[in-house]
Amino acid sequence: MNRSGFSRVTIERVTPYSPGKPIEEVQRELGLSHIVKLASNESPYGPSPKAMEAMRAAIERTRLYPNNLSQDLTDALADHLGQPPRRIFVGRGSDEVIHMTGLAFLNPGEEVIYADPPFALYPMTAQLMDATEVPVPLVEYVHDLDAMAKAVTERTKLIFVANPHNPTGTIVTGAQMERFLDSLPDHVVTCVDEAYYEYVIDDAYPNSLRWVDEGRNVIVYRTFSKIYALAGLRVGYGIVPDHLSGAMAQVRAPFNVSTIAQDAAIASLADPDQVPRGRELNRQGIKYFEGQFERLGLRGPASCANFVFVDTRRDCRAVFEALLRRGYIVRTGDIFGMNTHIRVSVGTEQENEGFIQALEAVLTEVPAA
Ligand SMILES: *Cc1c(COP(=O)(O)O)cnc(C)c1O
Repeated sequence: MNRSGFSRVTIERVTPYSPGKPIEEVQRELGLSHIVKLASNESPYGPSPKAMEAMRAAIERTRLYPNNLSQDLTDALADHLGQPPRRIFVGRGSDEVIHMTGLAFLNPGEEVIYADPPFALYPMTAQLMDATEVPVPLVEYVHDLDAMAKAVTERTKLIFVANPHNPTGTIVTGAQMERFLDSLPDHVVTCVDEAYYEYVIDDAYPNSLRWVDEGRNVIVYRTFSKIYALAGLRVGYGIVPDHLSGAMAQVRAPFNVSTIAQDAAIASLADPDQVPRGRELNRQGIKYFEGQFERLGLRGPASCANFVFVDTRRDCRAVFEALLRRGYIVRTGDIFGMNTHIRVSVGTEQENEGFIQALEAVLTEVPAA
């Protein structure tokens, strides 16, 4: 309604992000001492020891502003990715880089296509920019790229594809993506969100940087929040083809990434063990969950990420509350419009086993929907 008349009209329809329930809140409300949070796809293993050391050292330099362009981190990423530094945009989490993409490219009334249910930042970015949201339903938990291509109009500007997708953990293959990109007109930019890139072990998963090299209208996002276990620091990045990087540079906020975050990210890239170890432990966790769900007669998509999405065939809010009373925080599917599903992050082996025990008890307690 904009009753005060002060706010921008368009922000009235912005849906604020709803985060996973914080551990402290559950402790306060239920008086539980041991709580396991499997709600936000954080790493259960913590940052690299190299990153811990770099963070401690960086504290000494927080009197000064950080490097404005995250130069050393940009150079380290360029090296890591085999990309020129000019294509790399570091942000306060990849969330900021997604937001920057909206600022750089979206005019009011232009259309933004994404899968339904989406990662929450995509509709939010469209809403903030007064663009028009065009959600296209997933089919069997997977992006319907044909339907997304058909949804393109003259007004389409951005298409978001989370690969793997959140909340489902499904991927689109390189061949599918290539065919999709080939079918798009030149006025459309495809934003490939690879927050879970490092977890994927499927051979059909694309090397999306190839499309950046080819100068296609493709922007790729990655993050230090997931396998690198630095979610609390807020640091992620985008890889932007040369012809689009000028626009991104225009909207970059000064000093957007803290000294501690920059240094921790650089140190993480220099640790050769963290990613392969995290990927392998995660694979075991996913395999364990999938086997247990099968035993319990529950179904969901095969996940390529560090979480599983599963149909409990019960009201997910009731399942959530019952799991909470046993000390497990998960994400409910109702926020994604899937009212019998829950999304569960892979924890440590012990956490995963504890969760399955709790779930098994909850399934007998909560009646089928
Ligand atoms: C977790 C996640 C991100 C990462 O966000 P950060 O701001 O880098 O913490 C981005 N996209 C998706 C789909 C995610 O699930």
